Amino acid sequence: MSTELPRTIDRFRQPEYTGENRCTPCTIVNVAIAVVVSTILTFPAMPLGIAFFAFSMAAIYLRGYLVPGTPWFTKTYFPDWLLRKFDKHEMPTATPEPTDREPEDVLSEANVVEPCAEIDDLCLDEKFRSAWHENMERVMADGAEKRDLSRILGADESELEFEEHDSAFIARIEGRRLGQWESRPALIADLAAARELSDRYDHWDDLSVDNQSRILSGLRIFLDTCPECGDNITAEQETVESCCRSMEVVAATCEGCDARILEVEQTE
Ligand SMILES: [Zn+2]
Repeated sequence: MSTELPRTIDRFRQPEYTGENRCTPCTIVNVAIAVVVSTILTFPAMPLGIAFFAFSMAAIYLRGYLVPGTPWFTKTYFPDWLLRKFDKHEMPTATPEPTDREPEDVLSEANVVEPCAEIDDLCLDEKFRSAWHENMERVMADGAEKRDLSRILGADESELEFEEHDSAFIARIEGRRLGQWESRPALIADLAAARELSDRYDHWDDLSVDNQSRILSGLRIFLDTCPECGDNITAEQETVESCCRSMEVVAATCEGCDARILEVEQTE
C-alpha cells in the first residue's frame, strides 16, 4: 500500500519542466501568482488561502508550473537576454578570450585546412582527414576518452566522470563541469583531432584548453562521417527548444545513430 501514494504523485510529475529542465523565470512567475491568489483567498477564509498555497507549491514542485501555459508565455513574451541568463541549454563552446588564437589561423598554419581547389572556401587536408579517422578508431578501440581528456585537462583520470543526457555529453570532476560536447562521437572527434594537432602544430600545448576546444569544435564542420557508426553526417537549420527559450541553430547530425556532432547558434 505504501507504494501507492508515490506512484500517484509520479503521474503528476512533468520531468520536461522540472529538475534540470526547470525554467526559473516560469517558477518565479508562478510562485508570485500563487502568493497573490492565496493572500486574496485568506480574506473570506484563512484555511482556504493556506490550502491553496500548499496546493500551488506542490504543483510548482511536481509539474514545474501552476498556471497552464506559463512555459509558453515566458518563452513568447519575456525578452531573450533575460531568458538566456536562466537558460540551462548551454552551448558547449566557451566564449572566446581576447588572447585566443582564431581557429581558422591555427588550422591554416598547421596545414589542416587549405583553400579548396574549385570553390572559394576552405577544405580539409586529405592527409589530415585520414590521420584524424585513424585516430578516432584508435581512441574508440582503446576506450581512451578518459585518459586523453584527463591529460588535456591536467586532471586525475580516476576522478573524471562522464554523464550523458538529451543532447549533451558532460565531463565532470567531483560534480564540477569541466567540459561539454554535443555527444560522445563529438568528444571522440575532438580527442582524435587533438592528437594529430599536437604533432602538427608546435604551439598547440601553449593554447588554453578553451581555445583548443573552440578550434576542435570548428574543425567538426569538416567531419562528413560519424566516428561511432561511420554513417553520413548532414547539417541543417533547426529550432532547439530548451526549458526557457527557443533558438535557431545550425546542427550537424549523424544519419545512422542520430548523434549530434555540432550545434552552432545562429545570432543575427
Ligand atoms: Zn553515427
